[in-house]
Amino acid sequence: MKKAIFLTILISLLSCNKTKKQNVAAASQTKTETPKNIILVIGDGMGLSQVSVGQFYSDQASNFDRFTTIGLIKTSSSSHLITDSAAGATAYSSGIKTYNKSIGMKPDSTAITNIVETISKQGMATGLVATSSITHATPAAFYAHTKTRYMYEDIATYLPKSGIDYFAGGGLKFFNKRKDGQNLLPTLLSNNFVIDTVSLPSTVSEKKHAILLAQNSMPKMQEGRGDFLEKASLLAIKKLSQTKEGYFLMVEASQIDWGGHDEDPDYLIAEQLDLDRTLGVLLDTLGDHSETLVIVTADHETGAFSLAMEGTDYNKIKPSTSSSEHSATMVPVFAKGPGAEIFGGIYENNEIYHKMMQLLANN
Ligand code: MG
Ligand code: ZN
Repeated sequence: MKKAIFLTILISLLSCNKTKKQNVAAASQTKTETPKNIILVIGDGMGLSQVSVGQFYSDQASNFDRFTTIGLIKTSSSSHLITDSAAGATAYSSGIKTYNKSIGMKPDSTAITNIVETISKQGMATGLVATSSITHATPAAFYAHTKTRYMYEDIATYLPKSGIDYFAGGGLKFFNKRKDGQNLLPTLLSNNFVIDTVSLPSTVSEKKHAILLAQNSMPKMQEGRGDFLEKASLLAIKKLSQTKEGYFLMVEASQIDWGGHDEDPDYLIAEQLDLDRTLGVLLDTLGDHSETLVIVTADHETGAFSLAMEGTDYNKIKPSTSSSEHSATMVPVFAKGPGAEIFGGIYENNEIYHKMMQLLANN
């Protein structure tokens, strides 16, 4: 009797499993899974508590709620349990784990090809937007190769010939007020760039765009940066979608990390909400997502930030840091659009690169 019941359960479990598998196969056959364009959004220092800010500190619903696939990423670098932004960004731009402070260099300090170099040769358009200097670690890993992240002037020299078609951020002084006396603005012009240093242009041209709106980093949200991140990202889409082969755009909310380093929850929250709003505008603009995959993740968490309880009041949140440095916690990844399904699960940071390249190779 017992045996019979066991067998019945076993058979029903097996057949249930089979139906599920068939459903998955049917779903994947009917879906377009190859994006024409990829937008990779990096919230520097953005762990799960930072993402949760949108739930508690805004009148609007969090735009993270709109993503269809969620995963978790392990962020250790090749040299340290806790990564810095240079190694974290190199994992995303180039598919390898390397040492902290490396910009586009392997652990043996030789250069590794990045996604921009590969796909721009294939005719795709590429762009970068950051609220730091454009020579800061995260954007730098998408076009430069230097042994350490602090070689800002060296990093800038890579941009004019990098294959980048559009960039917007701060960092003007690393182009025109350099210790070596070089001026890279004429170099940008001779490489077919138009340059804006005062405000975002209202239109895009056939030429490449260099937009450098601050000497070093862009101002904090609290100091009046306004809607730079969303406007610069929308302009990037307008520019890059001129190219029929498709585009790759990296957008960085650079200063979530700096709010964590400063152990300043108000700073962090303002930067996080700026990213949340920007995601809303991006998702609205992309509409049905039939061509563009949007991936949102972080390089690491900063500040061991938490939404702790205020005293013993279950209705009061006290946003708190417990460190002024990065932490080892996994960071979330969100995806929406064609190919989004493959970003679910728990995996290493450099897999993001391989997943993106896998999708673009099927194009
Ligand atoms: Mg950064
Ligand atoms: Zn940091």
